[in-house]
Amino acid sequence: MTNWNKRTKAVHAGIRRSQYGEVSEAIFMTQGFVYDTAEAAEARFIKTGEDEFIYARYGNPTVAMFEDRIAALEGTEDGFATASGMAAVHGALVSMLKAGDHVVSARALFGSCLYILEEVLTRYGVEVTFVDGTDLDAWKAAIRPDTKVVFFESISNPTLEVVDIKAVSDLAHAQGAIVVVDNVFSTPVFSDAVSLGADVIVYSATKHIDGQGRALGGVILGTREMIRGVVEPFMKHTGGSMSPFTAWLMVKGLETMDLRVRAQAASALHVASRLAAGGQVRVIYPGLSDHPQHALTMAQMGSGGTVLAIDAGSKEAAFALLNKLEIFTISNNLGDAKSIATHPATTTHQRLPDDVKQNLGITPGLIRLSIGLEDGDDLLDDLRAAIG
Ligand SMILES: *Cc1c(COP(=O)(O)O)cnc(C)c1O
Repeated sequence: MTNWNKRTKAVHAGIRRSQYGEVSEAIFMTQGFVYDTAEAAEARFIKTGEDEFIYARYGNPTVAMFEDRIAALEGTEDGFATASGMAAVHGALVSMLKAGDHVVSARALFGSCLYILEEVLTRYGVEVTFVDGTDLDAWKAAIRPDTKVVFFESISNPTLEVVDIKAVSDLAHAQGAIVVVDNVFSTPVFSDAVSLGADVIVYSATKHIDGQGRALGGVILGTREMIRGVVEPFMKHTGGSMSPFTAWLMVKGLETMDLRVRAQAASALHVASRLAAGGQVRVIYPGLSDHPQHALTMAQMGSGGTVLAIDAGSKEAAFALLNKLEIFTISNNLGDAKSIATHPATTTHQRLPDDVKQNLGITPGLIRLSIGLEDGDDLLDDLRAAIG
């Protein structure tokens, strides 16, 4: 299996067949597991062997299929599936940090990630330094010998700033820090985060992995020692584990993810380049040559991804544009088969003070566009008609 390419792993890795020999993965919709004897129960609590389960908060066969499949795709030894992307970000960070530790994080983050770094970790005595994620000198100056963790989104939500995973990992490792990457916008399809130096990779499975807007989920990926030694004890006792039904949706999502994400990224490039050529709105897309980290994006991912942003100039113009869209739905998911338009300043990033929004580039006119599986020309027409 280790020789298989990603598309083969996405369909076959991690499969566990029951005695019935089913083709499609089974949903083991059970919270618990029976033991033949009291001695067997005792033995399993002392040491849980391969494919032995105790309680669904600890592990479950359908969840294990998802964990093994996504770990195989990403190229990590192991993974722990979580109830949401935020349970993954929170679990990864809190499981490895304690009071007195120092963290360096990129400033441009998804609102809930910023909440964990800025409000939760600091409440428990962790010191957090924020830097401009695109500025390597700033990372270098901020990472200290006592820095325990370095955290960033490889492409920031929603401003689409791209962080150099290899360069930041090299700086972090030189000081002995662990690199935790929220890799949602890269998707497992375009990710090469392990070979670039990331130690722990976190996904919201709610996005491209499900890809059809059905369920919340997440995963924390890393070495076996990190996942089973550090992450699992924290997650299994604090309750943020993935449900078996969600794991089944995500396992089936992985089978089609490569096709979906490549088609969505191709449409995103088409829409972004035509809108930019039209000149009526500012277009931000890492796949366009005028993006400040375009060369890095292409070297790191080979694609600009499935999300772009446009700036309509003002909140009024942005709302007018959003209200005219017929194919794009106004919502706040991304990576979905349906194209989605989001106004971050008044929704996902609403709680940030105005000056922080301005600093992050979350302008009143900014609209995030997640490109779905519709026809790319139809999406372009929809946007052109709304831009007017
Ligand atoms: C959506 C998202 C999350 C959170 O994922 P949920 O599944 O909604 O909890 C975290 N990070 C990034 C970059 C995201 O886009």
